[in-house]
Amino acid sequence: MISPPSPTLRLDIDRGALAHNWRALDRLSGRARAGAAVKANCYGLGVDQCLPTLREAGCRDFFVAHWSEVEPVLNHVPKDELAVLHGPFDASDASYARQTGVRPVIDSVRQAKLWQESGGGPCHLMVDSGINRLGISPSEVSDISVQQLDVQVLLSHLACADEDNAMNARQLEIFRDAIQRIRHREASFANSAGIALGSDYHFDLTRPGLSLYGGVPRHELGGEIRQVARPQAAIIQTRQLSTGETVGYNATFTAPQNMRIGVISLGYADGILRSWGGAALRNGEKMLPILGKVSMDMIVLDLSNAPELGEGDWVELPYHLPDAARQTSVSQYELLTVLGNRFQR
Ligand SMILES: *Cc1c(COP(=O)(O)O)cnc(C)c1O
Repeated sequence: MISPPSPTLRLDIDRGALAHNWRALDRLSGRARAGAAVKANCYGLGVDQCLPTLREAGCRDFFVAHWSEVEPVLNHVPKDELAVLHGPFDASDASYARQTGVRPVIDSVRQAKLWQESGGGPCHLMVDSGINRLGISPSEVSDISVQQLDVQVLLSHLACADEDNAMNARQLEIFRDAIQRIRHREASFANSAGIALGSDYHFDLTRPGLSLYGGVPRHELGGEIRQVARPQAAIIQTRQLSTGETVGYNATFTAPQNMRIGVISLGYADGILRSWGGAALRNGEKMLPILGKVSMDMIVLDLSNAPELGEGDWVELPYHLPDAARQTSVSQYELLTVLGNRFQR
């Protein structure tokens, strides 16, 4: 096969920062150890790029959402370190779990029965403590098919950990009660933000996702977490605009004077949504404002203040997640998971 030439956009993954973030979250988890949510292709950053680093840093507990995510992760971690949060929906999922040896997270009485009927074995169990997504209700803990499970890790998930909300303590109480009523080896409650809620929330295992990849859901984590993902693009064409000429779809930018502009091959198909309109990319300290609307495959930059930049030079989108979320009104989670697959990672 002929290998394609290298692309004009890349997602630089700072592996040192990723390892640092896992270690920081592991330390902040106190007596608990930190796992890692690696669902959605490590929140968009790439399983192949992130998993070896997380495992080298010391992580041994990995979580994906779908069964389709298992195979790429198993290229990097042993089967008993991986769990599937959505659990077995039907017999073929249960059979796949047994064949691969990956742990299903049982999320309902129906799944508990399904898992037992397929032969059972070690599994995790999700108790819903108030988010009302997946998980057995507290009233179902005593169900015989639930009580018969060989529960390794008993899980629950916080709805409002990124806020100071009375719901956090209410969920904690519900989870503590469930812990008393079902046999299990270990308990796991906190996501990234939950780690910052303090030792009551840590139990045996924490499950950070967002903060591994540079997200800061609570200010307490601000000093600990480093930026991991840096979207970069090459200038593929420069041109000269005359006063009064316009840029992009719907001609939303009009040149107030003669000016030099640059086109980069990065657009909303890559996850750089139109809400970035009005922001700027950067080359070193130089800020290069976005002109007009973001297109599917292109963004136009004002190069007025950067005469030294030309075709083939690289620019970077500032992707410090808390700042970028403020800039775009897109959540830190979404800013990561929308990043497309045209980036060279
Ligand atoms: C996604 C997810 C996490 C990770 O949450 P973050 O807020 O990204 O740290 C943890 N637990 C469950 C059940 C999840 O679905």
